[in-house]
Amino acid sequence: MRKDSLRQLYVDELKDLYSAETQMVKTLPKLARASSNAQLRQAFENHLRETSEQVSRLEQIFDMLEEKPTGRKCLGMDGLVKESSETVQGAYGDSVMDAALIGAAQRVEHYEIAGYGTVRAFAELLGENEHASLIAQTLEEEKQADQTLTRLAEQINAQASLVAEETKESANKSAARRAA
Ligand code: FE
Ligand code: ZN
Ligand code: FE
Repeated sequence: MRKDSLRQLYVDELKDLYSAETQMVKTLPKLARASSNAQLRQAFENHLRETSEQVSRLEQIFDMLEEKPTGRKCLGMDGLVKESSETVQGAYGDSVMDAALIGAAQRVEHYEIAGYGTVRAFAELLGENEHASLIAQTLEEEKQADQTLTRLAEQINAQASLVAEETKESANKSAARRAA
């Protein structure tokens, strides 16, 4: 009985992650486009490819469960996505914008790490070892993505700190160039 209800919670949490990942498939290209730093743009593009893989891992799990992945919206990710578009639309100069994008993206990675940690524990408890190993692969990618962003932040934040009080005019110019 208790296991049955944990299984139901497990499926709901997986649906939540499926929604979260599909939201990121749409959002990562926007973060890549808004990046000025080539390595940062590359990191977002790489993680977009991984994210598509993560979606397909979840689909494999749903196939094994004979369940559909749809029917739930991850509201946490919806909020993070909205914050990231606020960031993208902000009138920050190039390196400051890159620093802001990293901040937005790391919130997403940490959120995903929390979600996958939970479902991995559930999968192990429920004896779903195949699921657990798929989930572990994704969890590792999320942790790596977070570390890559931390590494990039070291140079990008340093660069951003060198930009003396940027005038509103130059920030607007940067914003206009990004929008073009
Ligand atoms: Fe992900
Ligand atoms: Zn959620
Ligand atoms: Fe991720």
